[in-house]
Amino acid sequence: MSNDKISAEVKKLAGELLESGKVSAVVGYAEGTLKGRVQTFIARKASETEKFIFNQNCANNLAVYLTKSYNIISAGKPVAVFLKPCDIKSVTALIQEHQLKREDIFIIGLSCQGVLNDSGPAGKCRACSMHNPQYYDALIGGVVEEKEPEVTDPFARVKEIESMTTSECWEFWMKEFDKCVRCYACRQACPLCYCEQCIVDKTRPRWIESSAHPIGNLGWHLIRAFHLAGRCIGCGECERVCHQNIPLSLLNMKMSKEIFDLYGYTAGMDEGAKPPLTEFKMEDNEEFIR
Ligand code: SF4
Ligand code: SF4
Ligand code: SF4
Repeated sequence: MSNDKISAEVKKLAGELLESGKVSAVVGYAEGTLKGRVQTFIARKASETEKFIFNQNCANNLAVYLTKSYNIISAGKPVAVFLKPCDIKSVTALIQEHQLKREDIFIIGLSCQGVLNDSGPAGKCRACSMHNPQYYDALIGGVVEEKEPEVTDPFARVKEIESMTTSECWEFWMKEFDKCVRCYACRQACPLCYCEQCIVDKTRPRWIESSAHPIGNLGWHLIRAFHLAGRCIGCGECERVCHQNIPLSLLNMKMSKEIFDLYGYTAGMDEGAKPPLTEFKMEDNEEFIR
């Protein structure tokens, strides 16, 4: 289906949802101010829904707007949100973590053929095997054919880093972390980084050096990776928004790989599952704390 046809479908659906009073707002995409860029647009009246679009530039994961810090969900009426299949995994994870109730959102599921970043198809799309939403309240774009992903091993890049010696690995990451200016765009774009007070903003006591300093940067990146272990759903938003081009996905995927190898668990796939680091079983071998 063409982009124009899909955009016409989302405008129509969003208008009907607001007109009927079924939802209090619709969170979607609109043209950005720069060519080829999109921006988030929140419509609260049917007359505003003409702005909505959907095309290959719609990379942003809009689930980030559903967490408490945005305060968009008010009691009584659901909020509708445009979600690609990979974005729906964040909704699943937020429901698992009791940050969101399913009945508070109306999912406008978008079947998806991939999105673009500055250099072409986004890396996550090359390894994607889920082009149709797992669940939704309305489907836009119909059901698309699932095809073999171009990249069959999602951990291939992680394995390359794992094959380095300890000192090569240290050098690689210290060089990458050294580029970090601590703007926290990665945290702000992440749907799973929803703490109202992040540890890096705490000043009494100050847990982590807050300036862009090698040791503080190391602390920030390792703490964030550990906080997201078993929770990161791999939407790639943190890496996409990092203007310093730090390969954050590599770090998050390393943690996902460890969690998968230890527990056979993949985040964001099953809203009834308990994330492994939030539960304890008597038969656990506790290898990780020995
Ligand atoms: S990872 Fe899959 S669902 Fe997500 S944007 Fe890429 S192709 Fe679409
Ligand atoms: S977005 Fe990039 S530069 Fe900014 S804090 Fe995150 S890693 Fe550092
Ligand atoms: S850590 Fe990055 S890839 Fe993982 S959920 Fe957050 S934004 Fe998405």
